Amino acid sequence: MDCLFCKIIAGQIPSTKVYEDEYCYAFRDIAPQAKCHVVLVSKEHVANVADAASLSDTALAAMLRAVGKIAAQENLQEGFRIVSNCGKNGCQSVGHWHIHILGGEQLGEKMA
Ligand code: AMP
Repeated sequence: MDCLFCKIIAGQIPSTKVYEDEYCYAFRDIAPQAKCHVVLVSKEHVANVADAASLSDTALAAMLRAVGKIAAQENLQEGFRIVSNCGKNGCQSVGHWHIHILGGEQLGEKMA
């Protein structure tokens, strides 16, 4: 499948790995929108959060557990934001479900 994030997970495209387990892979965003900007992806390819229900409960839970682990690892104790853009209106640019983890500084109040 011609998917950028599948290639990153497979190591065919380089990335700066932040976290990995059986179900998830996380790496630094190439165009960071905060001091800390990590992209957390499901290892199993699903297009977006709306399709993520097709994953196992274990895989779904692993994604949320990974958020907390990455936040601790990245010293985001003062807070952070997660974003999962979905589809055209959500400005999703890569069609493989991912969660942005943004922090390391005071973020803006607006979410959209
Ligand atoms: P989205 O627009 O929500 O689909 O997010 C896709 C994200 O992937 C964007 O924030 C991009 O900057 C990021 N991105 C695209 N290509 C790469 C890459 N090769 N390595 C790391 N991040 C990337």
